[in-house]
Amino acid sequence: MRVDPDQKAILSYDDIQVDFDLLVSVPVNMGSPVIDKSGLGDDLGFVPTEKYTLKAKDHDDIFVLGDATNLPSSKAGSVAHFQVDGFIENFQRYVDGMELLPTFDGHANCFIESGHGKGFLIDFNYDVEPLPGMFPMPGVGPFSLLKQSRMNHWGKMMFRWTYWNVLLKGREMPIPAQMSMAGKWR
Ligand SMILES: Cc1cc2nc3c(=O)[nH]c(=O)nc-3n(C[C@H](O)[C@H](O)[C@H](O)COP(=O)(O)OP(=O)(O)OC[C@H]3O[C@@H](n4cnc5c(N)ncnc54)[C@H](O)[C@@H]3O)c2cc1C
Repeated sequence: MRVDPDQKAILSYDDIQVDFDLLVSVPVNMGSPVIDKSGLGDDLGFVPTEKYTLKAKDHDDIFVLGDATNLPSSKAGSVAHFQVDGFIENFQRYVDGMELLPTFDGHANCFIESGHGKGFLIDFNYDVEPLPGMFPMPGVGPFSLLKQSRMNHWGKMMFRWTYWNVLLKGREMPIPAQMSMAGKWR
């Protein structure tokens, strides 16, 4: 029902009180109002989507990419980027009446700034959790996976340039759309 910051307590409608030292609350992640209005979405405003082909489950001629899907992948720019790569091939197959390929594996790749000039890098998909290793070149890197490093921070800084000059201009990125186990260890 409400949070009482002075008492440091969460209070429910049925008079239950839960005390806290530090409250970290995460609101429910909802889809876009435009999806709600379209009637394509589920209760949370995401479009039910086939996990590996990105076709809308309940509608022909509609594919869903990026934050609009209800998939168990991250809502992230890298995910939208990797989805597009596989979608292009599948869309052409769809137009030609061919069977769709399972081109999207849930691949996500994110730098995470951790402060003091350092950062993390994680690379994962539907089935493989973030693992330690080196990226993008196995054993060489220069970026380390699931580990804090200064090089990861510089990678994030360099990505700004890549974003404006490579991604937005539609140039090829030398990173495959599907996740690779090369350079990762358990
Ligand atoms: C604060 C923040 C930080 C983030 N940081 C990162 C990060 O560090 N790394 C990362 O990978 N991802 C990050 N993300 C996530 C990333 O931005 C999204 O996953 C990505 O932009 C999704 O792309 P999209 O094309 O699906 O949706 P969007 O980029 O949201 O594009 C949807 C577009 O539809 C438009 N639109 C909405 N309604 C209508 C309408 N009725 N008519 C016409 N147009 C409409 C919107 O204006 C928007 O331009 C971040 C997101 C947020 C909010």
